[in-house]
Amino acid sequence: MNTTVESWGRRAAKNEALFREVNERIFSATEAFEAEGLEVLCECSNAECAETLHLSITEYRLIRARGNRFAVLAGHEDPTAESIVERNERFIVVEKIGESGDVARDLDPRG
Ligand SMILES: [Zn+2]
Repeated sequence: MNTTVESWGRRAAKNEALFREVNERIFSATEAFEAEGLEVLCECSNAECAETLHLSITEYRLIRARGNRFAVLAGHEDPTAESIVERNERFIVVEKIGESGDVARDLDPRG
């Protein structure tokens, strides 16, 4: 295994997985109150992105049901490593493909 060189795709997937972990904490905190929805971090591959988007509990659950899906803002998608599975006026759901998808699934806190 090569540990010195990490492809951009792997790094990007790790950033997204990190945002997902933060959002999972926001989600568990919010779910307890049966909130209408939650404000989560954009889960794009840019580690410096600090923008947020609004999801309903149901939308969030649907995205999290798949280990390689992420919610990002329009324009934050990366067409080289992900495909768009859903798009609406608030956010885009992307599915990581190839190697990035494997990394995303490996790092899924829901297993
Ligand atoms: Zn973003």
